[in-house]
Formats: sequence, C-alpha cells, structure tokens
Amino acid sequence: MQQQSDKMDKIVSLCKRRGFIFQSSEIYGGLASTWDYGPLGAEIKRNLKDAWWRSVVYERDDMEGLDAAILMRPETWIASGHVTSFEDTLVDCKSCKKRFKVEQITGKVCPECGGALTEARQFNLMLKTHLGAIEDETSLSYLRPETAQGIFVNFQNVVTSMRRKVPFGIAQIGKSFRNEVTTGNLTFRSREFEQMEIEFFVKPGTDEEWYEKWVSERYDWYVKLGLKKENLRKRAHDKDELAHYAKACTDIEYQFPFGWSELEGIANRTDFDLKQHSQVSGKDLAYFEEETKEKYIPYVIEPSGGVDRSILAFLTDSYKEEEVKGEKRVSLAIDKSLAPIKAAVLPLLRNRPEIVKLAKDITKDLKKEMKAMYDDTASIGRLYRRQDEVGTPYCITVDVDSLSDRKATVRDRDTMKQDRISVDKLKDYLVEKFEQ
Ligand SMILES: [Zn+2]
Repeated sequence: MQQQSDKMDKIVSLCKRRGFIFQSSEIYGGLASTWDYGPLGAEIKRNLKDAWWRSVVYERDDMEGLDAAILMRPETWIASGHVTSFEDTLVDCKSCKKRFKVEQITGKVCPECGGALTEARQFNLMLKTHLGAIEDETSLSYLRPETAQGIFVNFQNVVTSMRRKVPFGIAQIGKSFRNEVTTGNLTFRSREFEQMEIEFFVKPGTDEEWYEKWVSERYDWYVKLGLKKENLRKRAHDKDELAHYAKACTDIEYQFPFGWSELEGIANRTDFDLKQHSQVSGKDLAYFEEETKEKYIPYVIEPSGGVDRSILAFLTDSYKEEEVKGEKRVSLAIDKSLAPIKAAVLPLLRNRPEIVKLAKDITKDLKKEMKAMYDDTASIGRLYRRQDEVGTPYCITVDVDSLSDRKATVRDRDTMKQDRISVDKLKDYLVEKFEQ
C-alpha cells in the first residue's frame, strides 16, 4: 500500500514538473478539484480523443459524430430525471464546516473533528447558472452533468439529416460538470471533466446482444492502446447499484494506485430517455422502420468513458523505473499514438553551427508530419532522460559524422536500440514506425 501511494506521488510530481497537469488558478492558491492541462497534457488529451474518435466514428459504418452545446433548455434535465434525482444526501459539520455524504458517516459526529452534525439534506449535483440579464427562476440554467442528453435531443435530427437506420450510434466528446462533494486523486474526480460518450440506438429485443458487444469492444480498446490486462477488469453492477434509467451496466475498471476505479461505464439505458423526452417535449421521438412498417422507441446502449480518468490511467500504467548501467531510468512506455512528443532532435555538439543547422532542418521537416521538437539545452545523456520521462518514442541525434554521411541516429525509447538512418528518409522511416 505504501508502495502504491508512493507511485501516486511520483505521478503527481511528474505531471506538475513536466507540464502534464497543473492545479487550476494555482497563483491564487488553487481551485479545489479543478485542473489545467499543461503543454504536454494538452497533447496527450488531443491524442487520446483522436484515438477514440478514429476508433468509434471513422473506423465504423454505424456511427455519426456530434458536438452539442453545454447549455440546454432546463426541461432537458426535468425529462432526464436530473432535477429530481441527481442528488447526494449530505450532512455538514457544525464546527469544522466540512461536508460529508451520509454514506461516509459511521457514528453521530464529524469523522474529522468530532463536532456535531447537521440534519441530512438533499443536495443537487448540477451546477446552476443564469442566462440573460435577469437573474430569477425563469433564467435558471444548468451546466450539463452529462453529454448524453445533447445526443438524445438530436436523435431525430441525425436520423433525418444523415438518413440513418437503426441500429446506429452517435458519438460525442465534451465537457460536463458536477458539483462533487468528495473529490481528489488528482484528475480522477473533478467538478469539470470531459466525457467520451456514445449513445447507440437499437431495436428493442436486440439490446442485450448489443450491450455485450459494446462491453467487449470498449474493453478491447483500452487493451489495444496499451493498458495492461492485469490492471483492467469488467465489473457488472448489482441490481441495487443500477441508475434509475438502466437495465444493466458494466464498468471497465482500472487498478489505480488508490484502488480499482471506473474508467468507463457501459449501460443499457433502455428507451427511458427518448420516452421521457417524447413526453416532456410533446414531440413523438419514435422511430419508423421502413422494412417492417414498425414504429418503436429505440433502446440505447451507452458506453461512457472519462477522458481525464483515462489519461491518468495511461500515465500510471506506462510509468516505468528501471536500472540501466547502474543508473535509475524513468520512462513512460506509453502507446506511440498517445505520446505528447513523437520525436526529439538533439544535436550532439551544440557549438557546431553546421550540426545545429542540420538538426533544426530535420526538426522543421518532421513537424509537417508530427509533433517534433529540437532541444540542445543540456548534455545528450540528460536530454535522453528528459525525453524518456515524457514518453517520446524516438530521439534523433545529429553528430559530426552526420555532416559527411547525411545520416542521423534514431534511438527507440523502449528498446534503446539505435539505428542509423539517412536524413532524407527519416520522415518516412518514422511515419512508417507510427503506422505499425
Ligand atoms: Zn468537523
């Protein structure tokens, strides 16, 4: 356990030191449970979202993408059930003012300071705001607590505009907000977070089969992107754990240093949402099946993953410490497609203008294809260590020989094997490596 919390400390330190994740508003003392992605974190995030989008939208024939607004009509959240039942039951400590979920309290007093507690009361997790000039009940609006509803309310728009037939899905990546009381573990549970969600619409009766299919497809995606199988598991929810709208749900969990926790949930949401929106909006959201002349409200399978949690899992999983020639080597053995920097070009001698020029020319050329950088701010040994630590798959060194043979040395992050490659072929060589 000690070892595990050490590991978490190392990840937290790496994230801050190397520009993956910073605390929000840090110069003002930080805003609790809100995080900023630094230069390298922003790259990983883009890469992860791209990998997801490629896999669920581009590589399939039965999916469309969507990018709905964060702000929606308040009726949306009445229909979805969030206004009435998206709440925690909370108690406050009268002396230290700390707030707890009722489930966290075992005795009758504050677990932190022993102070007296208030009566339990309901606390809605949605973040409220007001739209327009007047701040009253009529202008009340919410920051969406899930991206899903933006998909449901556009179901008919997508069917009509894209001439889609059930079964098909709509995929979306976007921010959601929850006024969480218990937060912590870096970006694992934050008040502002990003989701990668699919609502997959199917004919009632075929839902269980599609549900199973999506559980295994989504599990395989994490494995394919490099998460170790021993750190991944599928956990089916018990009946009493299920959300009010769900018939079944399986979590894909990752073994974080702080324990097994959810990366993604795959839920069978039945026809709950479309039915609710039909009722509340007064619009008939049923689907008409040409072939059979049947009219029905589709069932929905929802694979819903957390972008921030996944990034944390990929960082934790790929963090590696080993002994190399009597020295400690830290590396991020992260999938090449996720690595924030794909190639670093390092001149062996930074006081030789011809070497520097060649290295900079190589960098410029690589930048057309990938995130590449030039660095000459330290000795070669140190430059390698810096790149290893942030998971750069390839380091390219330019030396004196490069000037005569027009070749550079390419070093592989994981094998540390070095290849001498012709400068003209370098870009193609790396592009090919990334396609493998
Ligand atoms: Zn207290």
